[in-house]
Amino acid sequence: MNPVTPICLSEKLRGCLLGGAVGDALGAPVEFLSLAEIKATFGAEGIQNYAPAFGRLGAITDDTQMTLFTAEGLLCSYVRGALRGIASPASVVSHAYLRWLWTQGMESKKPKPERVIGLLWGVKELHSQRAPGLTCVSALKAMTQFTDSRASNDSKGAGGVMRVAPVAMMFAGEPENASQAFSLGMQSAALTHGHPTGFLAAGAFAVILHAIFCDENINVGIDRAKQYLAKQDAHEETLSSIEKGVALAGTDLRPDDAIRNIGEGWVAEEALGIAIYCALKAVDFRHGVLIAVNHDGDSDTTGSMVGQLLGATYGISGIPYDWLSPLELREIIEQVADDITDHWSWNLDYMSEAYDEAVVKRYPGG
Ligand SMILES: [Mg+2]
Repeated sequence: MNPVTPICLSEKLRGCLLGGAVGDALGAPVEFLSLAEIKATFGAEGIQNYAPAFGRLGAITDDTQMTLFTAEGLLCSYVRGALRGIASPASVVSHAYLRWLWTQGMESKKPKPERVIGLLWGVKELHSQRAPGLTCVSALKAMTQFTDSRASNDSKGAGGVMRVAPVAMMFAGEPENASQAFSLGMQSAALTHGHPTGFLAAGAFAVILHAIFCDENINVGIDRAKQYLAKQDAHEETLSSIEKGVALAGTDLRPDDAIRNIGEGWVAEEALGIAIYCALKAVDFRHGVLIAVNHDGDSDTTGSMVGQLLGATYGISGIPYDWLSPLELREIIEQVADDITDHWSWNLDYMSEAYDEAVVKRYPGG
């Protein structure tokens, strides 16, 4: 990764959310293709640009949908804390994930209310299935109430780690809250993924991103994540995949060979290892996300995670405009990023004349 000139926090937060969506959209057409099939379709260099998926160019998938709902849940929790004095962030996030499930046209055991509220429910483009992950769907369908408890399955699919970037964003600029980013990253993923690796990888990813948001570099974040992991039970395969990603980034192996050594990214520790490898290897945003989507495995998830890491590092101005401009839901993604930047300054005192009523409508937490 090349050195970075200092950029402001709002640029990093926009870069993270938009960069993740760009990587997701680049990977969407090739998610289920092997590298050989990608090359047969797009030429010897593999996919280099947006190609049609879900009927358009720049289409996001479930990775970005669920990342947005994580952000909405965290902001609703912040509003709830301010209005009521108490909130369990993971539990409010579980409510947001049920809203996502309902956008997929599916029912949960917890009945859907007659009137669903919140910013994202009103975005009609989100009411669309984009190859939703089976574990996320089945765990959410089984939910009978809002909860902060760990799912009762044994899945370590990448559907938990792919969606926790907003946890790191909420603690941006607060180095003292790295361990909170770790815990809440784990809790948010564990709502649907009960295997330790399924949520430990998510906690580690949140810590790595969080370091970038605190003007530390990715290597500091990786070291911190390893320290936190070492104190957890059943951390071995997550730690080993992180170490593999770092070690391979120090070699001259071709990226597709290096990624094959880590895995395909369908499971959480492989997605994390691949994301770390690609981010460390990247000379710029374009290079990093292109190596992240050209492999045999879960291209949209690894593309999304690398896009988040590099978007946070280089900021929105580091993302090529030809990818940013046609990106689906660009305005809404940017608004959510800006709301995370601004949430500390919201006036949530309902007795005050400057009460931010629009905010409470977007992120109802009462
Ligand atoms: Mg996807």
